[in-house]
Amino acid sequence: MSTIRVGHLYPEYLNIYADRGNIAVFARRAAWRGHELEVTSIGMKDAIVPGMHDLYYIGGGQDREQLLVAGNLAAKSQPLIDAVIGGGAALLAVCGGYQLLGRRYRGFHGEDMAGVGLLPLETVAGSRRMIGDVLLECELEPGVRRTLAGFENHAGRTRLDPGAEPLGRVVSGFGNDGESGFEGCRLGRALGTYLHGPLLPRNPWLADWLLAQALAHRTGGEPPELPPLPDELESRAHEVSAGRARARGGKR
Ligand code: GLN
Repeated sequence: MSTIRVGHLYPEYLNIYADRGNIAVFARRAAWRGHELEVTSIGMKDAIVPGMHDLYYIGGGQDREQLLVAGNLAAKSQPLIDAVIGGGAALLAVCGGYQLLGRRYRGFHGEDMAGVGLLPLETVAGSRRMIGDVLLECELEPGVRRTLAGFENHAGRTRLDPGAEPLGRVVSGFGNDGESGFEGCRLGRALGTYLHGPLLPRNPWLADWLLAQALAHRTGGEPPELPPLPDELESRAHEVSAGRARARGGKR
């Protein structure tokens, strides 16, 4: 049994669409495997100390909330990069948090926000919001294809740098920019995505992947194979969401 230490960045600001629900999924799925989740909030006044957390989580927010935290977060770039890229902690960044982990985000009203520069991407808001159900195909391990179903609502168009790895290929929905056919970004154990709301309740495999990466950071070993769970309700939720995305047709 291990204690998985989660650092939740700016929960008072970046928390739209059930971001706390994703943390609850981590906690339950860890507990069902005999592990404990210890969640600490990393707010404006708190430092990021590499090695202190096994998994970082940053949620979604509107431009207004992003503006409130962007400067504070950018000032913590180096320790966050050291913790995740240097130290191998896992990270999940959702929507507004995802945008701020790139090099920069230009908001809807032209506000320029410096990002962390952890993920190889930039985001500029466009005039039309990209809203709706999304279905992706992901291959985080070579040869293992899985689908992610969720909901997106963003004005930002995210461009990955050449050669950067997306989180998945868009089967249905807009994704990063409505054109490239890519959604999200993956860099080692760090994942960013526009899919929010109940992302982890309906995609439990993603929660388990991140927990396994966090356990690998905790123990200094390989990501463990977590014992499977029945996941009947979760599979049904996934199917409902995937079905809604498919009903909207292909890429927009
Ligand atoms: N403000 C960002 C955008 O509209 C992110 C929105 C969100 O987190 N839902 O692109």
